[in-house]
Amino acid sequence: MQVAGCRLQVEIRLGPPARRNLQPATSHMPAPSLCLFAAEPLDRCSDARADPDWIAARLADPESLLLPLYKGDPLVSGDAPVWLATAARAEFPADAPVVFLGVARGRAHFALDASAAPSPESAPFAGIGRYAPLREAAGFFSDDALAVAGQARWLLDWHRRHRFCAVCGAPTDMADGGAKRRCASCGAEHFPRSDPVAIVLAAHGDACLLGRSPHFPPGFLSALAGFVEAAETPEACAARELKEEAGVTLTDVRYQFSQPWPFPSSLMMGFIATAADRSLTLDRREIEEARWLTRDEIRALLAGERREDARLPPRFTIARRLIERWAESL
Ligand SMILES: [Zn+2]
Repeated sequence: MQVAGCRLQVEIRLGPPARRNLQPATSHMPAPSLCLFAAEPLDRCSDARADPDWIAARLADPESLLLPLYKGDPLVSGDAPVWLATAARAEFPADAPVVFLGVARGRAHFALDASAAPSPESAPFAGIGRYAPLREAAGFFSDDALAVAGQARWLLDWHRRHRFCAVCGAPTDMADGGAKRRCASCGAEHFPRSDPVAIVLAAHGDACLLGRSPHFPPGFLSALAGFVEAAETPEACAARELKEEAGVTLTDVRYQFSQPWPFPSSLMMGFIATAADRSLTLDRREIEEARWLTRDEIRALLAGERREDARLPPRFTIARRLIERWAESL
C-alpha cells in the first residue's frame, strides 16, 4: 500500500496475539503481561540511543516504524495500532516531536506527536483509521501493542509539558532519542517523570478491605491508593494512606508487582498488607465507603457473581490482580 510516496504498514503486531492470562505469577518475577501497560516488548537500547547518529540512521532505515499519536491517542485501524514507515514523517509538520521507543525483531520503533493538527479527524493519516482514546484501545490492543502505545503517550506528553528548564527557565532540547531533555543554557538534564503510587490491599484474617472514592461509580470497590510523597518509601506510603483514609493500622506491608499508568505518568506499585484489626475510621473526603469482604465473597465475585453493592475493578488492572492474588492465596 502506497500513501504519499511511502510504504504504509498497518496492523503490524509487535509480538504474539493477546496473551493475557490470569495465572498467578511467581512471587519474585511477575509475568510481563500481568497488568495493562506492563508488557515490555521493546529493547530500549539505552546505550545506543545516546548516539544521535545511531538515532538518525534508525530514522532513515526503511524498515523502521512510526506510530503517530494525537494528544496521546494512537492511530488505530481495526484492533491494532497503525505503524507507518518513518518516511511518513514528511506528512506531518517538520517540528512534530519524534521519540525513539525501542527495537523489536531488528526494527526500530518511533512515536510521533501529531497534536499540532486542529483535531484528531484532521491529523495526517486519520483517513486510514482513527486516533482512538488510549483507554478505549486498552480494551482491544494486544498486551505488547498497549505497552508500546502507553510508553509513546507517556513520553510525548512529558515532552509537551516540559519544554523549559526547571532550573533556569531556558528552553530545553530533546536528547537520547527522547529519553531525556537537556538545557543548553545551564546544562541541566531532565528525565521523564514517573509519579509513584502505592496501591494497597489490606487483609485481616479471612477478609480484605475494599473502598470507594467519591468519584467511583455506585457499587464499584477497589484497593486503596495514594501518591508517594517526597522522601517517602512506597511501603511507608501504603501504611500512611491506610491510616489516613480508613483508620487502619498495617502491621506488615508486602510488595507484589507494579503497573505503568500513562494518564499521564503514574507508576502503580501494588502491595498486600496485614491489618492490626478491622476497625474503620473513614476520611469521607477521600473514601465514601469501605468495608471488609470475606475470601468467599471475593471468590464468588471473581467467579462472576453480580452484586449491586460490590463490583470489582476490571480485569488486568493492578487492583484486580492484587485481589486475585490474595483470593488465590491460602
Ligand atoms: Zn537550565
